[in-house]
Parts: sequence; C-alpha cells; structure tokens
Amino acid sequence: MQETDVLVIGGGPAGYVAAIRAGQLGRTVTLVDRGDIGGTCLNHGCIPSKALIDAADDVHSIRNAEDRGIEADVAVDFDQLTQWKDRVVRKLTKGVEKLCKANGVTLQQGTARLVDDHRAEISNDGDIETVAFDHAIVATGSRPIELPGFSFDDEPILNAKAALDLEEVPDELVVVGGGYIGMELSTMFAKLGTDVTIVEMLDAPLPRYSDDLTRPVRKKADKLGMSFQFGRVAADWEQTGDGRIRITTEPAADDAGEDALERLTADKALIAVGRSPVSDTAGLDALGVERDDKGFVETDDLGRTNVDHVFATGDVAGEPMLAHEGSAAGVVAAETIAGAAPAPPRTVPSVVFTDPEIGTVGLTESEASEQGHEPTTGKFPFRASGRALTAGERDGFVKLVADAESGTLLGGEVVGPEASELIAEIGLAVEQELTLSDVATTVHAHPTLSEAIMEAADCALGHPIHTFDR
Ligand code: NAD
Repeated sequence: MQETDVLVIGGGPAGYVAAIRAGQLGRTVTLVDRGDIGGTCLNHGCIPSKALIDAADDVHSIRNAEDRGIEADVAVDFDQLTQWKDRVVRKLTKGVEKLCKANGVTLQQGTARLVDDHRAEISNDGDIETVAFDHAIVATGSRPIELPGFSFDDEPILNAKAALDLEEVPDELVVVGGGYIGMELSTMFAKLGTDVTIVEMLDAPLPRYSDDLTRPVRKKADKLGMSFQFGRVAADWEQTGDGRIRITTEPAADDAGEDALERLTADKALIAVGRSPVSDTAGLDALGVERDDKGFVETDDLGRTNVDHVFATGDVAGEPMLAHEGSAAGVVAAETIAGAAPAPPRTVPSVVFTDPEIGTVGLTESEASEQGHEPTTGKFPFRASGRALTAGERDGFVKLVADAESGTLLGGEVVGPEASELIAEIGLAVEQELTLSDVATTVHAHPTLSEAIMEAADCALGHPIHTFDR
C-alpha cells in the first residue's frame, strides 16, 4: 500500500498549487486526477478561452482600424487558431507536470475515493490501488449546470468546454446566461463573426457587477451587434431539420403563456447558467465531510472541513469560484497542514475578460459604508488618459474607495483597457493597507494606463491634475 503525508484529490489550480506547496514544505504528496492535470482552468476554461479571446481581439482591432489608416482584409483560419490554442494548453499542462515533479509530488491518474479516515482507493482502468494518508485536500472542482431539457449530451447544446472545442465558428449562437462565461465567450464569437443572442433571466448582463461597470460592456456589445433577451429563460429546443436548432424562450417570471414565447434559430446553444460543485465523487460521505445545501464543502478560513485532517479548496469549497482564489486557498491549506502559519488573503480580485475588461477588488463604496467606514472615492475616466487614447480606447474608468478618516484603501474598480492587469496594483494597495497618498505619491511611468490609478487617488484627495470637476 502506498503511503503519503498529503493526498490531494484534483489537479486544477487549487489542487496542484496545494500539492506543490506541501511538497516545498517537506511533505510527501500524492496528487490524483482522473483527467488531465491543470483541471478546468488550464484545459477547458481560463487558458483556452483567453487564447481565443485574445486572437478575436486582434482580428477585431485590425478590422476596425480604418481611422488609424489601417485597412486590411483579415481572414481567420479557425483550424489553425484552435491548433495553436491547444498547443498553448499542452505547453502549460506539461509545465505543471514538471513543476509537480520538481517539488517531489507524485502524480497519479485515476479517480480517488476516500474509504475511511486515513485511506483512499484510486481506481484507474479497472485497477484499484489503496493509498494511506495523514491529510487529504479535496480539490475536485465544479461542473457546468445543465438546464432541464438541455442535455450536454446533445451535440448542438454546448457547455463552455464544448464551445471552446468547436471546430468551426458558428454563424448563429444562442447563449443562455449573461454571466462570466456567457459574456466572455459571446464577445469572442461576435468578434469572429458570429451572430450572438444572449438570453439572461435578470435585467442586465454580469449581475454580480454594478451598472457603472457593465455600461461600457453593454455599449460595446451593442456595437458588436450582440442581441440580448433580458428577463427571459430558455424553455425548450428542437432540431429544425436543416441542421440548425430552434430555441424557445419564455419570461423568467411565472406569467408565461403561449403568447409570451419567442423562438430563436441558431446553429448551437451555449448554456452558461453557473457551475455546481463536484462533491459527489471523492467518497466524502465515508468520513462525514459536511456540505451545504448546494453541495459545496464547508470549510473554515484555513480550508479545514468539519473533519480535522481533511481540507477542501477551490470551486468545490464554494464562491468565489475563481482559479486564483483556489490557488491562494490551496497554499493556505498546505501551509496549515505543514504546521506553518499561513496568512489567508484579505482580498481576492475578480476579473471579467469582456470588452472592455472589468476588474474589481476589495470593498465597493456601499460595502464600505455597511462595514462602518465613512468612504471617500476617486474616479478617473480613461478618456482623460493619454495612453488609453493612443490605444484607441476611451471608455471606462478607475474608481478607488478609501476610508475617509485614515485614507486607507479599501477597494477599487476598473472597467477599461487592461483592467485585468491594472486591478493588481489596487489589490496590492488594499492587501497592504496603503493609503490614497501612498498611491498618489508613487510615480507612475508616462504614458501608461496605470497612471489612471494614481490620478484616481489624486481625485479622491481633491487635487487631480488631468481631470477636473465641472
Ligand atoms: P455566472 O454565475 O457568472 O452567470 C450565470 C448567469 O446565468 C447569470 O447571469 C444568471 O442570472 C443567468 N441564468 C441562470 N439561470 C438562467 C436561465 N435559466 N436562463 C437564463 N439565464 C440564467 O456563471 P457562468 O458564467 O456559468 O460561470 C461559472 C463560474 O465560472 C462563475 O461562477 C465564475 O466564478 C467562473 N468563471 C470565472 C471567469 C473569470 O474569472 N473571468 C470566467 C469564466 C467563468
């Protein structure tokens, strides 16, 4: 029987990072995954989607650069593009394998199931092996939620993975759910020429974000010709007989009669209505590991479940279901197991790879008030940023939220070019409890987008240089 200090179940960004950190701290580690190392993020999510989003951005910018005197007839060889995307994925997953090995992590292919307090069975192609462990870290991730009647087994009904594995750009696509996946992939397909309709049950896209942040995204979506059906849900679908499908939508509220039904034809439908935890495959019941009513494993700040030597991290441990949150929590779990004194992060940024991008971190203005602060804010528009204009961008802003009395940064929001990168500086400032003055007096290189953060701090302090209150 194999013996290990730490058994990590699931090799996504939560599991493999936890495994590497435990290895660095001198523990013997076995990392088991039934699929490819790297999990959803590397193989079927963040990485392939960003590869395609980036390529679609290139195509779109070249096709829309006439005002800069650039005219080009751009053709996309989608087959070559997807091969390149697959090579990027392979390079990264191979890299993760090497990193695991370099840190002494034993990689094992198979499905792990806890059978009692300190043993798990790993099954692979009919072979079953038992592993004895001191601690376990469950990082089994999440799966896309299926809508009733829309089975992912049916070829035209896509989840994000299938959408990223398409061999052709669809002419027409219906996207059900205007959240992260719905908006990111819709924008990407629209830029590659697909006619996209988004069916969202609420009255705006990206419901986790404020109207101020989503307004520029809506504006660009309209410009790209993306259509929205708000307050509606997908009820049913059928084949049309000519290789296409017809999707019936109805109002999200219960007053749906036949009159309220609408029909959309498309080549495919992408269902992106959220993800649910994979907490039913690893034998958690054998140890009495508690889950909430949605199936998420309940943990404390250190990732510990109700069973002392079992930890959970990543999507399976609940919101926010973000790769970087899972990785950070994986480090904390590994350090706790190894007897180190981990520092759970104060803030976790979130980023949406739409056009423009959105990035947020820390508290919003109203959250700051709710938590007893008297907030002060500073907002700098990208239309006043020299670097944004030289990149052909003018929509969006940086907004900082600070405690009025101390000036300590509490949070920030960015919508605009490179928001996914810019939010890191604000995250650092919030995590390190820097003040508005600290940010305002840090010289930022010119001309850069990051100057907008310095200027937003100046705005909050009442002495902006490159903008003024009318
Ligand atoms: P989501 O929760 O972001 O969005 C789901 C959307 O579907 C919501 O807007 C919701 O109102 C809508 N919806 C739900 N049921 C519906 C129905 N029956 N008909 C119409 N609309 C409906 O979920 P997602 O986009 O599927 O993404 C899943 C998870 O993946 C997210 O929780 C996120 O954490 C993660 N993710 C993150 C990123 C990123 O960080 N950039 C990117 C992609 C995915």
